[in-house]
Amino acid sequence: MTNKDLANTIFPDITKTLEDYEKEYPERNLKEGAKVVRFAPSPTGFMHIGNMMSAVINYVLAKKSGGVFFVRNEDTDSARTVEGAVDFIHETLKHYGIYPDEYEYKGETVGNYGPYIQSERKEIYQAFVKHLIEIGRAYPCFMSKEEVDEIRENQAAMKKRIGIYGRYARYRNLSVEEAIERVKRGDEYVIRFKSEGDFDKKFVFEELNKGKMEFPENDLDFPIMKSEDNLPTYHFAHLVDDHLMRTTHVVRGEEWISSVPVHYELFKTFGFKMPKYIHNTLILKKDGDTIRKISKRKDPEALMFFYVEKGYPALAVIDAVLTIANSNYEEWRTAHPETPFYEFEFNPKKMSASGALFDLDKLDNISKNIISKMKAKDLYEELLAWARKYDADFAALLEKNGDYVTSILNVEREQKKPRKDFAHYSEIKDKIWYMFDELWNTSEKGYVFQTISDENEVRSIGEKYLNDYYNESDDKDTWFAKIKDLAENFGYAREVKEFKEDPSKFKGHVGDVSTALRILFTKESMTPDLYEIMKLLGKDRLTKRLEEL
Ligand code: GLU
Repeated sequence: MTNKDLANTIFPDITKTLEDYEKEYPERNLKEGAKVVRFAPSPTGFMHIGNMMSAVINYVLAKKSGGVFFVRNEDTDSARTVEGAVDFIHETLKHYGIYPDEYEYKGETVGNYGPYIQSERKEIYQAFVKHLIEIGRAYPCFMSKEEVDEIRENQAAMKKRIGIYGRYARYRNLSVEEAIERVKRGDEYVIRFKSEGDFDKKFVFEELNKGKMEFPENDLDFPIMKSEDNLPTYHFAHLVDDHLMRTTHVVRGEEWISSVPVHYELFKTFGFKMPKYIHNTLILKKDGDTIRKISKRKDPEALMFFYVEKGYPALAVIDAVLTIANSNYEEWRTAHPETPFYEFEFNPKKMSASGALFDLDKLDNISKNIISKMKAKDLYEELLAWARKYDADFAALLEKNGDYVTSILNVEREQKKPRKDFAHYSEIKDKIWYMFDELWNTSEKGYVFQTISDENEVRSIGEKYLNDYYNESDDKDTWFAKIKDLAENFGYAREVKEFKEDPSKFKGHVGDVSTALRILFTKESMTPDLYEIMKLLGKDRLTKRLEEL
């Protein structure tokens, strides 16, 4: 009996060969230098910022090189699959304008290199496993989980290297006859790779971010096919999929770097060209005085829900991610403020090898800048879309007052140095609440007069202003000249300078008067341009608010 008999016993129904698959998935016909990349998340959790970084880098690499970006659903761990995770991946990519060239979702497949869902590729993996068994480079291992755990515990206790290698690989040399008999008998087994590596030998590997790295050869007989569902392990699926899908560059999490020796031996065994690898930088966070890895459990900003719920513009998040992913992105973005992010030439050498600090203040700054440059109309639309999902009452207000809200959002906007006051849509309501009677009337907020604390004085100033000075058609200069007249009328200096020269002559200065008016009409001490705000509020509202004081 031969290995071929063993292979046929295990996979009697697998008839396709590696050659068949080579023909089915030929080399891609792309121009020189075009990169074929993939985003390959496992639906075992919701998309997080590390996934996002992989997705964005992949997309940029594909776009800029005229290549292909595909999404592969790595769903081989059915026990840990989280409901809704796949939908969230596709929704998130769409939200950020990261459109895959090839994918499979909701029954629709786009691309000729599918299936793009691993659980639908079982037969393909099995053909590759079968081949390995035939050539004597894989075998069924009948050790129970308990036996494996015991070996690992003993190794740990004796400070030995952990894993199934050398003499720990108990079924490595089982005779074909015996193996066939046990398989036929229905004994449980996993298929393990039969390594020929030597842990004491080193090989050099060029990782695109970290450069030349030295690794010990793999000597582990690691599992390639699981017993419970006959699906492959990550290592084996990576080999088969990235070979047949003709991936040129693998961008993946830092945690996979230690698996390079395993992948190296697998590709070598099949004689396949290895893709190039970029291992993502770790995403770090400042936590008090320490810096630590960002955590899905502890940090809400680790999951991609956070950014949509808060209402950050998509581009702000992408820019923030690329800013920490590549050290020259920020400079490029400053020089090319209007260019789509995927025109950026991503350089893996300019990734931090040790970790990148992701900081929400930085994101806020990026975002404030982006929001400040939006047209009022566009911001209105974005805000409304956000509010429809997260604040229905506010959405109703926005809808009812479209032109009015657009004018509010237009204050100090669409000009050379626009006001940068909104970092995300969810903070806009709290910053413009006083412009809406509905919010004004239900607010618990009180008046906190600062510059002029005597409410009667404020009331008199307000009355005088509305009766004698207010004119809706005044331009800003006229308006301001009138505020100065008003100030003078009440014994305040027309100019701050004048006041500073001799404070004893005045009750205060024009700034105190305008601040008092601001608080009187908005209950806020800081607002955008008061002239614009008062004009938008209009005389009726101003009068009503004065009466309420
Ligand atoms: N499914 C793996 C993960 O989510 C993919 C790693 C890779 O991109 O190869 O970590």
